[in-house]
Amino acid sequence: MSPTSPSTDAGKKPSPEPTPAPSNFIRDTMIRDLETKKYGDAVLQTRFPPEPNGYLHIGHAKAICLDFGLADEFAGKTNLRFDDTNPEKEEQEYVDSIMKDVRWLGFEWDGLYYASDYFDQLYEWAIKLIKDGKAYVDDLTADEIRQHRGTLTEPGKDSPYRNRPVAENLDLFERMRQGEFPDGTRVLRAKIDMTSPNLNMRDPVMYRILHAEHHRTGDKWCIYPMYDYAHGQSDSIERVTHSMCTLEFEDHRPLYNWFIQQLGIFPSQQMEFDRLSLTYTLLSKRRLLKLVQEKHVNGWDDPRMPTLSGIRRRGYPAEAIRNFCAAIGVSKTNGTLELAMLEHYIREDLNKRAPRVMAVLRPLKVVIDNYPENQVDEVDAVNNPEDDSAGKRKVPFSKVLYIEQDDFREVPPKQYYRLSPGREVRLRYGYFITAKSVVKNDKGEVVEVHCTYDPATRGGNAPDGRKVKSTIHWVSAAHAIDAEVRLYDKLFSKEDPNQVEEGQEFTANLNPQSLDVISHAKLEPSLANAPVESRYQFERLGYFCVDPDSKPGRPVLNRTVALKDTWAKIEKRAGS
Ligand code: ATP
Ligand code: MG
Repeated sequence: MSPTSPSTDAGKKPSPEPTPAPSNFIRDTMIRDLETKKYGDAVLQTRFPPEPNGYLHIGHAKAICLDFGLADEFAGKTNLRFDDTNPEKEEQEYVDSIMKDVRWLGFEWDGLYYASDYFDQLYEWAIKLIKDGKAYVDDLTADEIRQHRGTLTEPGKDSPYRNRPVAENLDLFERMRQGEFPDGTRVLRAKIDMTSPNLNMRDPVMYRILHAEHHRTGDKWCIYPMYDYAHGQSDSIERVTHSMCTLEFEDHRPLYNWFIQQLGIFPSQQMEFDRLSLTYTLLSKRRLLKLVQEKHVNGWDDPRMPTLSGIRRRGYPAEAIRNFCAAIGVSKTNGTLELAMLEHYIREDLNKRAPRVMAVLRPLKVVIDNYPENQVDEVDAVNNPEDDSAGKRKVPFSKVLYIEQDDFREVPPKQYYRLSPGREVRLRYGYFITAKSVVKNDKGEVVEVHCTYDPATRGGNAPDGRKVKSTIHWVSAAHAIDAEVRLYDKLFSKEDPNQVEEGQEFTANLNPQSLDVISHAKLEPSLANAPVESRYQFERLGYFCVDPDSKPGRPVLNRTVALKDTWAKIEKRAGS
């Protein structure tokens, strides 16, 4: 169950294990429970319980790393359990994607279960609770139940059906199951305490009638257990010792314990931790579903989405996500982390292992007038300065090259040290060149820069020791591969995308500039057969990942994350 090497990393040398997380209260409890043998000699057992109503997101990654990571640390086991008690929202597509994503993150479950596996057992336990006088069938409507529930300051009122005889409850519950009653006409409720200060304890609903087709049990059932009735019992059946969930379930813990105590079954314990939230990001399946359905993004795996399938496609390495989750730890209060922090972990990881290549996103033609026609010079380029074992490759250099439009200014602003008329710069791994003249189109735009090169500077250094202030990247025009490159920015322009003006929806905060497609980028030829999901650093530009939309001879690359661009800051500050 230890993290496995994700498929995309196959063939790469194994990276070091993530640094262990600082201690946290969940780990401390586990240590104590093992020391005191709270569960006898049973192994520590956790579960990850997604509802298959959408794709997993980075918030789920935090839960997965905790559930699997902590069990692993204590030689325990982890189940994957689909919490499939809402037949109307659940689908096999989601089940499949969740399994794929958990594996991609590097984890393998011990048991694979579904809450629906337990529908028969849960039903029997409900009957036991009825017989014990601990549950009753209520005929109030949902609205009436809400009215009777009271508020935080006012106690609730008993339902007129609360004291039905056991035999009548048994009969009605059985007929609910047989499908005699329409949706919403009756529910089964636990008989606890309508005056409890905890609203969850005021006779919570255990079952509702729902004539809906279930993705696994079909039409076998027309009553379905509520989350609170299903979850703890499912944990108990699987002998889960530590059931981790997010803080909003803290107030449900007394109910979780109540069912287990009444039934006298395995005493699983629920522990709560803080929900991950990130700036400029929404982590809610419901909201993400809306973005997909309304086509604000191109599907669940759009690289701008915070889903695991989206960030995988974008190029985020699974290991970087695990390291991020280990670093953020857990706490007892919810907060929001900077998206920049996540990006930091992505860069840190890719810096170590992404091969460097040269690519030009917005090409400007450079002709080296004194370079021999038809001569091709194979210059040596370092694959990864952070990793000596990555070696070197040959990059073709010739008379006509492409450089970035941004790396030339006919009239250079202050502090601009890249190519401009009369200025000498270094072409990375190539030669020193000096710009001499330009060719313009009808609109007056520079379309070609004519330069001279110094043959003595091959490899990028002048024998006389003279310096240049700038090194720029390039590709040989005759050898370049045409590519589509997709640049991404934040999906939302507001730090808190939920913050909206009156009458607006969160979609009003979508960033209209979140996708910039460059259709004619030029890549160095070593990228000709780059496999899908392989990752590179484009020198000076950022990290990029090959997209599944790639076609032979026409790769598509996604920018995973930019390098920190110091020039952009200077330019911004200067207001130019
Ligand atoms: P969503 O609102 O996105 O649907 P959820 O909590 O309803 O989230 P589940 O499928 O029920 O999603 O979650 C499975 C597990 O993942 C639960 O234990 C839940 O607490 C945890 N989880 C979900 N979102 C986050 C998050 N943002 N941070 C940490 N854990 C999360
Ligand atoms: Mg949910």
